[in-house]
Amino acid sequence: MKKRILYLFISFTVLISGCKAVPEKTTQTFFAMNTYMSITLYEENSAEIIGKTINIISELEHLWSVTDENSEIYAINNSFQPVYVSDYTADLIDFSLDMAEKTEGKFDPTIYPVLTAWGFTTGENRVPDKKELSALLPLVDYSKVILEGNTVTLSENMALDSGAVAKGFTGDIVESFLKEQGITSALLDVGGNIQAIGSKPDGTDWEIGLRSPFSDGLAGILEVSDLSVITSGNYERFFIDESGVRYGHIIDPETGYPADNGMASVTVIGNEGRECDALSTALYVMGYEKAVEYWHNNGGFDMILISENGNIFLTPYAAEIFTPESGWNTEIIS
Ligand code: ADP
Ligand code: MG
Repeated sequence: MKKRILYLFISFTVLISGCKAVPEKTTQTFFAMNTYMSITLYEENSAEIIGKTINIISELEHLWSVTDENSEIYAINNSFQPVYVSDYTADLIDFSLDMAEKTEGKFDPTIYPVLTAWGFTTGENRVPDKKELSALLPLVDYSKVILEGNTVTLSENMALDSGAVAKGFTGDIVESFLKEQGITSALLDVGGNIQAIGSKPDGTDWEIGLRSPFSDGLAGILEVSDLSVITSGNYERFFIDESGVRYGHIIDPETGYPADNGMASVTVIGNEGRECDALSTALYVMGYEKAVEYWHNNGGFDMILISENGNIFLTPYAAEIFTPESGWNTEIIS
């Protein structure tokens, strides 16, 4: 008799938990790393988890900011002596050097001196002359960065810039934290770079708007689960000189000039935010032909390239999960 009651009790609780309503959706927007970020959760304790997430992001910002005099990147850039850094920073640098090698220096974390010459670091933009740039270019060389364990050494006047990977890296770190908390459904938007954790609680995909590089509108919608979606373009941070020429903040490390090869934006879709972020910058520098070649040779990710004349080129899986807005011309990369 007692046993029967127990069984009854167990099946009753299973029934209740089976029907358990998903807690309400909570989205919070905040400003960090020079951009707006937002996080969406469906947890009983969403507010508490969001608070902890923001703390993690602030901690990373404090380590990696190039302008914060107390940051680890600042210490590396201003000492030219061996600097001992945290595991997070050592990982960031290790990964960056790896990606620089893989992309044959199209992504180069030592671009900072050139970026400064263009005024992108201060907002006081100017066009440096050729002589000034050729004097700075020898400082842009990832192969001269020495990383031994957690100790980093730069040659004189070199400087690191985490701008092209920090946000993707942050997405990965936040994802690990949320998964450790047992969260299986969350969406992190790091300044337009998306880290989708699992799917929505009802099992459907997250719908992500892909921004048009030409207007405030969208180029289309992506449906994703458990993926990172990261975009690089020159439509957000750029300046226009007196003669009307437009200069963007993604620099070709070979020339020291802003990449200018017919690409309006590059979106990379993959499993790791850090890789998508480094690649979005590198593929933007490469331009269409080299980006397609890189994808063929390396794989492991998908991409959406929008050309300056308004065409959308997608790898086959990207095409499957993407619905363009009307009026956009799409083509599948083969
Ligand atoms: P966003 O920051 O707009 O999302 P990216 O991820 O492409 O775009 O990062 C651009 C930033 O990366 C620049 O502001 C600069 O700090 C840095 N950067 C520019 N060119 C390069 C390059 N070739 N390699 C590595 N970092 C770069
Ligand atoms: Mg990037």
